[in-house]
Amino acid sequence: MKAVQLLEHSTSTDVLTYEDYQDPSPGPEEVLVDIKAAALNHLDIWTRRGLPMLDLEMPHIPGSDGAGIVTDVGDDVTRFDVGDHVAVSPGVSCGKCEFCRDGDPTLCDSYQILGEHRPGVHAESVVLPETNLVPVPDHVDWEVAGSSALVFQTAWRMLLTRGELDPGESALVLGASGGVGHAAVQIADHAGAEVFATASSEEKLEHAADCGADHLINYEEDDFASEIHERTDGRGVDMVVDHIGAETYKDSLKSLVKGGRVVTCGATTGGNPGAGLNRIFWNQLSVIGSTMGTPGEVDDVLELVWDGTFEPRIRDTLPMSEIQRAHEMIENRDGFGKVVVVPDSEYE
Ligand code: ZN
Repeated sequence: MKAVQLLEHSTSTDVLTYEDYQDPSPGPEEVLVDIKAAALNHLDIWTRRGLPMLDLEMPHIPGSDGAGIVTDVGDDVTRFDVGDHVAVSPGVSCGKCEFCRDGDPTLCDSYQILGEHRPGVHAESVVLPETNLVPVPDHVDWEVAGSSALVFQTAWRMLLTRGELDPGESALVLGASGGVGHAAVQIADHAGAEVFATASSEEKLEHAADCGADHLINYEEDDFASEIHERTDGRGVDMVVDHIGAETYKDSLKSLVKGGRVVTCGATTGGNPGAGLNRIFWNQLSVIGSTMGTPGEVDDVLELVWDGTFEPRIRDTLPMSEIQRAHEMIENRDGFGKVVVVPDSEYE
């Protein structure tokens, strides 16, 4: 079979190839899946560039999101049969530590993500533990099934479980054109919040409005904290959803109402902004972290993707042999929503 392979860490995409790789076969409690569509996340860029503490065996198959058809099952697999449609949920937990035993595997002492710490799914076929698969109804498009799990579970846990967003509150979603951003806009709207969204162009903002944003801010033209101040009569918003980090953090704090909270699930532009403690204590703000989602949260949010309540927007679909271009599209922030890759043998 063919698979996308990372040959070594690099800021250049030259280290990605699409070549022959050994055919996988499932062991106990594992399932073989023929991938029909997969998607990229910012995580794929970080993994390619390399992260402290990340020690991968090369070549490494990247990719955390994908969906396909079960073609073989190992011993003791109970939830799936050959022919089932499945999507990948990439969180891997130990099941044994105090946090797993307490019911929250996202806090697992040895939490890992498929495609980052372990071989991923940008390949024709993959073997995965059955615990990493979610059933997909047959009517759901492969592009939708293969591009939803990571961003929708991340945004769901961030806004609802960790951020406890209530109907009637206001939420500002930064970078609404990215994967997590456009999922967060949809979830905040669905939760009954008044949604403010930022993006870098009018075209992206139109997409954000289509996802449910009530107020649009072009951050290339306007300073978003001043805009929030103006548009809320000086009050500020109840929640800021920030996955951007150093570039936006200070203005995120400035955009909050007294007692408000900023929820973060990433720091694309850097993880060490000034803490802003003066503003935090005086305005009694909360800074809340969030990572991925529990299997229960994944089930809850994907149910709403499968029934069409939420919809990942597809920026472009490329054959896996164009994986370098797919990475560049994510890095250059071209367009709105998800970049999908499909095995060349499936590409039409
Ligand atoms: Zn654990």
